[in-house]
Amino acid sequence: MTAEVIYGKELAQSLRDDMKEEVEALRLKGIIPGLTVVLIGDDPASKSYVKGKQKASDYVGVASELIELPSSTSQEELLTLIDELNSKTTVNGILVQLPLPAHIDEQMIIEAISPEKDVDGFHPVSIGRMMTGKDTFYPCTPYGIIQMLKSKQIDIEGKHAVIIGRSNIVGKPVGQLLLGENATVTYCHSRTKDMAKFIADADILIVAVGIAHFINGDHIKEGAVVIDVGVNRVEDGSLTGDVDFESAKEKAGFITPVPKGVGPMTITMLMHNTIKSAKKANGLL
Ligand code: NAP
Repeated sequence: MTAEVIYGKELAQSLRDDMKEEVEALRLKGIIPGLTVVLIGDDPASKSYVKGKQKASDYVGVASELIELPSSTSQEELLTLIDELNSKTTVNGILVQLPLPAHIDEQMIIEAISPEKDVDGFHPVSIGRMMTGKDTFYPCTPYGIIQMLKSKQIDIEGKHAVIIGRSNIVGKPVGQLLLGENATVTYCHSRTKDMAKFIADADILIVAVGIAHFINGDHIKEGAVVIDVGVNRVEDGSLTGDVDFESAKEKAGFITPVPKGVGPMTITMLMHNTIKSAKKANGLL
């Protein structure tokens, strides 16, 4: 079997085209969705992610503002800034680019952002609402993965979904969203014993570990849906996923590539959340 490749990049483009039209219509009503991104320090990977977010904002018509601060910024200064952004009506979404310098308490910053503007979906209120099946801002990478599955009419209900990785931003929430779609969910992590048996039984396998080619075709079930979240920079400078694409694609039913897979969907769902926030703030939702 050769897998059908799910190109997140293509889906992201078509969703962004729809969003562009939606934002044009909102602008005619005087509503301009606004996203403020706060970048602290000069980590090259963070800078590149922020650039991608600005590019997507420009494309869909979201008014994006970038606030760049030195890595010496204190926690107090950052909290004061978030307070100001929370009360600014032109700001519908606040995103503080992670990771933060070690002297800043990341969780405290996440919790300082108003849940109404939590377009990253990391605030405990957003997470709690997601877990209880209420409407909220879903974390962007997990939400993008669900959109990718749905775009191919992949049946989730009753399927065994195995998630490798349990981070707060990917592993845990993607499992919750799949549970919400009636999958039977297994989480694997660094302390899981006999992980191979779970992987071999997975109908849907989500890999979010951060180790290049952690999974290959020998590990997976014939016909499995394989979603590769990993982004790893290898020696020649190129990017590769957590899955050995070439061997896995010979056995999987569907597979996502890296790059052009999950990554572009993450930023697209950030745009979705920002537009949703603007609509909510203006009584349209
Ligand atoms: P993370 O916070 O480092 O979490 C990694 C997870 O993998 C942890 O739960 C860890 O288990 C587990 N793990 C590590 N080694 C393992 C092993 N040998 N066996 C089983 N599990 C193991 O990473 P993350 O933030 O979730 O990101 C994961 C990957 O996705 C990274 O490559 C990241 O760059 C990428 N990513 C991509 C996007 C995108 O938009 N495409 C977005 C976010 C992240 P423990 O909990 O037990 O330590």
